[in-house]
This record gives sequence, structure tokens and C-alpha cells, in this order.
Amino acid sequence: MKPAAFGYDRPLDWAAALGLLVQGARPMAGGQSLGPMLNLRLAMPEAVADLRHLPGFAGVAVRDGVVRIGAGTTHAALEDGAVPGRLGAILAGVARRIAYRPVRNRGTIGGSLAHADPAADWVAVLPCLPGDAVLLGAAGERRVPLSRFVLGVFETALAADELLLAVEIPVLPEATRWGHWKFCRKPGEFSKATACVLAVPGAAPRAVLAALDAGPCLLDDAAALLRAPVEEAARIVAGLALEDPWRAALAKRALAQAAEMAA
Ligand SMILES: Cc1cc2nc3c(=O)[nH]c(=O)nc-3n(C[C@H](O)[C@H](O)[C@H](O)COP(=O)(O)OP(=O)(O)OC[C@H]3O[C@@H](n4cnc5c(N)ncnc54)[C@H](O)[C@@H]3O)c2cc1C
Repeated sequence: MKPAAFGYDRPLDWAAALGLLVQGARPMAGGQSLGPMLNLRLAMPEAVADLRHLPGFAGVAVRDGVVRIGAGTTHAALEDGAVPGRLGAILAGVARRIAYRPVRNRGTIGGSLAHADPAADWVAVLPCLPGDAVLLGAAGERRVPLSRFVLGVFETALAADELLLAVEIPVLPEATRWGHWKFCRKPGEFSKATACVLAVPGAAPRAVLAALDAGPCLLDDAAALLRAPVEEAARIVAGLALEDPWRAALAKRALAQAAEMAA
């Protein structure tokens, strides 16, 4: 199937990009989700605003203990170590398991988060990390904690006239423990259950269970899960009352495995 006809704009500054949004244009980053949606006519915008030439759209900067990742930074750049230190190792480990390299060369962290596919990897992982999504609208910038950016299935805190500028995450101590486990039927496929557990020294450990055809489920205090991964995973998943027994079994396994990795 071919897309319906649409206009194409390539804004060179952020004010122009926001102006195009107000006129009804759909922002495009890597096009790895929007492209298929256009082809299938699930999206039929009058125009597409290609964000890739905006200043600072892609790239990583570390300042005052905070890592700022431009929304247009590709999965491949993160896989290749664009972010230094412990946080970089965590992000690289997630990025390298997204789809396959041609998708990672174009797909971006911001596009993935803004799309909010419940099975997507950044949608599962970023709510577990401390830090904020930085949004830009006509009134200026605003911040939303990563744990509250994705609100549901294909639903985020972004307003129709806002763009995701960047993701900001504090530098993590080297002693930070991390577990990440996802189940795909075939390598490179979208996940059927993902869990991650983060234990930063001095802070309550956190966990996320995701890719269950619902928005990510965040556990603010995962200390009990780290003490008894199998038992706690079973208790937590029972509380979710998932319809399909196979999905519940995968969710339990994901959570227990991620907790064991982080313990
Ligand atoms: C074959 C294939 C397999 C895949 N497998 C996986 C997988 O295993 N795991 C996974 O996580 N993902 C997977 N993906 C999706 C991929 O990771 C995409 O990169 C991602 O979903 C979207 O990123 P993008 O940069 O291409 O965004 P786009 O497709 O350009 O945009 C996606 C959506 O976000 C909006 N948007 C984009 N950028 C912004 C912004 N800065 N501000 C506001 N709105 C914005 C667009 O309007 C659109 O609605 C796969 C994709 C393909 C084609």
C-alpha cells in the first residue's frame, strides 16, 4: 500500500518546527514507525515535518552530572557508546537488542518514546531510570519525569503542539545494579514481556514491567523483589490479573529474571 499524498517540510529551527505543528504537520524523526503508519494509511497528515535537521536534535552532552540525550539520537548511536559510564553501558545493552541494525541506524530514542508503542524497548526502560523528558511548546520548555511520560498505549504527556526535545538522566554511579530481560519470539521482534530493575546505591530500587499490551507498570520500591525475585514476581503479576496465562507466565519470568540480574 502507498501513503496518501502529503506535504514535506524540513524545518531548520525549532520555532519553525513548532509553527508547522500548529498548522497540522506530523513530526517525523527516524520514520521507522511513522513510515509504516503512512504506508498503511493509519496516519494521513497533510504534511510531515522532518525534524532531523534541527540544531541539537541528535547528540549527547554531559553537564553538571546530567546526561542530555537529544531526542533525535539514534538507537545505533546509543548502542555504539554515545553515552559514557555506567548509564551508557545500560543504554547500549538495551539499544543493541532493538530490532536490527538498519532500523537502529534510523530509529531514535525520542521517536520511540513519543510513539509509545507498549512493546517498545525505550518505553519499558526509560520509566525505570531517574530523570526527565524535556518538551518544547510555544510557551517554552517543560519537564516531565520519565516515569510519567508514557501514559498508556500510544499515549504520552506530549500535547499536539509540543515536541520532545531531549531525555535527561543523571550520571549513574558505577556501583549501580541493573537487570533487563525481555522475551521475543524471534530475535529482532517486538517484545512480548519486558522487565527491568534499577538499584542505585542509596536509593530505593525500582522496577518496570512492560510490553503487556498496556502502558509500563512502575514499581517505586522493588526492595522485596530483589530479596525474593521468584515469589515477589508471582505476587506482583497475580495482582495485574492478566487475561492470558501465557502472558502472565512470561511477565513473572521477566520480572524474576531482571531482579536476579540486579540482585
Ligand atoms: C521492522 C521494525 C522492527 C522494529 N522493532 C522494534 C523493537 O524490537 N523494539 C523497539 O523498541 N522498536 C522497534 N521498532 C521501532 C523503532 O525502534 C522506531 O525507531 C521507533 O518506534 C520510532 O522511532 P523513529 O525515530 O523512527 O520515530 P518516527 O517513526 O519518525 O515517529 C514515531 C512517532 O513519534 C512522533 N515523533 C517522533 N519524534 C518526535 C519528537 N521529537 N517529538 C514529538 N513527536 C515525535 C511522530 O510524529 C510519530 O507519531 C521497529 C521498527 C521496525 C520498522
